[in-house]
Amino acid sequence: MSRYGYIACETCRIYMFVGKYVQPDDGGAPYFHIGDPDEPPNSARTLETKALWKLHTEHIGHPVRTLVEGTNDLSHIWEFVEIGGDEPQDISFEDYVKDWAG
Ligand SMILES: [Zn+2]
Repeated sequence: MSRYGYIACETCRIYMFVGKYVQPDDGGAPYFHIGDPDEPPNSARTLETKALWKLHTEHIGHPVRTLVEGTNDLSHIWEFVEIGGDEPQDISFEDYVKDWAG
């Protein structure tokens, strides 16, 4: 079963999806991966990476948490604004990082 991860600011009620939580069989460090296994690593995703930097910068001192299915209760974040989401209250990655200098 896939376990998906999210980075959320619980004060500002905003989060972004960071992909599947992957724990390599060889004991290597775990990582998050968006998309099929043959797609580039998350760190090569410029837009998502920029959004992640902005998210952390905007929420200094806030309880920004990394949440993973099966480890954390996620029930409270589904009403948050999702960066990169497609519900009416959400914000696209493009709009979120538009004109951001970071
Ligand atoms: Zn915040």
